[in-house]
Amino acid sequence: MSEISQSKVLRILLVEDNELNQKFALAVLKRLGYITEVAENGLVALKLLNTNKYDLILMDIQMPEMNGIEATIEIRKMEKANLIEHIPIIAVTAFAMEHDRRNCMDAGMDEFLTKPYKPIELEQKIKTVMF
Ligand code: MN
Repeated sequence: MSEISQSKVLRILLVEDNELNQKFALAVLKRLGYITEVAENGLVALKLLNTNKYDLILMDIQMPEMNGIEATIEIRKMEKANLIEHIPIIAVTAFAMEHDRRNCMDAGMDEFLTKPYKPIELEQKIKTVMF
């Protein structure tokens, strides 16, 4: 049995506004056997979280309507108010500076992945927070 088939099938929410980045991430996640839904900005993500359950969120930072930092702060507030269960959040962003990483962690994210990334790097980050 392969390592992938032994892993839990995760439901992942991909929050990303760029279509090419969406396509790339979706292809990688599908190959890993995960179920993925897409939200094109933070506002759409919050709406989906009201009705759907996810095991993990991949969060872009720069997005229209509501960016990834704002969305993460809102999600952590919803958790504190017991509106939703805790969900790990991985920042996936082209912002690669140390202060960008710190902003993500301060907002309540669990991990940080810099775009562009290799499929194996996304897989490893997911395993870091989930398994
Ligand atoms: Mn973006």
